Amino acid sequence: MPVTEEILTKEEIRFLKSHGIEFSDIYDGRGLRTGFSKIKAGEEGCDVILGNRCTSPSRHRLKSRGGHCIQCKPASLAFVKRENMEGHVYLASASKGKIIKVGFTNSIFGREVSLNKQSYGCKKDWEILCSVVVKNGGQLERSALALFSAHAKSFLYEKVDGSHFSNETFEYDEVKAAYKFAKWVEARQISALIWHSTRKEWFVTKILSEF
Ligand SMILES: [Zn+2]
Repeated sequence: MPVTEEILTKEEIRFLKSHGIEFSDIYDGRGLRTGFSKIKAGEEGCDVILGNRCTSPSRHRLKSRGGHCIQCKPASLAFVKRENMEGHVYLASASKGKIIKVGFTNSIFGREVSLNKQSYGCKKDWEILCSVVVKNGGQLERSALALFSAHAKSFLYEKVDGSHFSNETFEYDEVKAAYKFAKWVEARQISALIWHSTRKEWFVTKILSEF
C-alpha cells in the first residue's frame, strides 16, 4: 500500500516535495522481496518504492521501480515518469513522405511546430499524420519504434547545445507506415487512432487500395 507521512524521514519528505512526488506515488515495500514489491507497486500505480537502503553512505530508502536510488540519481525518476506518462504516441512524416518518425509527447498540438522549428533530423517539412492516446507513453513509444527498426536512418542536425543524431527517424514510405501504425494501434487495443493530417482522406483511400 502507499506510504503515509509518518513513516518517512524529514529529509525524504523534503526530497519528495522538491520533486513534486505525492505520497500516494510511493509504495511501502519495507520488508518485502524486491521483485514482489515491484509488481505490487506497478499494480497500485506507484512509481517509487520505499524499501531497501542504497549502497551510498547516505543509505537512502527511495527507489524507482527499476531499482535505482532516486535520491542519488533523480534522473531515474524522470525515466520512470516518462515510462508511465499520459500523452500521444504519434507518427510523423517528412521529406515528401519518404522519411517517418515515431515519437511520444504530452503536448501533441505543439509537436509539429516544434519538430519543424528545431529542424528535427535536418528536416523542415514534418507533418504529424496520426496519433493514439496512451497511458504508459515510454513503453508504447518503444513498441511503436520497434515496428520500423529495420529501416532506421539517423540524420545529423544542429540544436542549441550542439550536433545531435535523430534516433527516431526511419526511411519508410508514409502510406505503408500509416497502415502499419494503424494496425499496431488496433492490435494493441490502445484507443482509437486520431488523424491530424489534412490528407487523411488521401491516406485512407491509398491504404484501402494498396493493402
Ligand atoms: Zn542513494
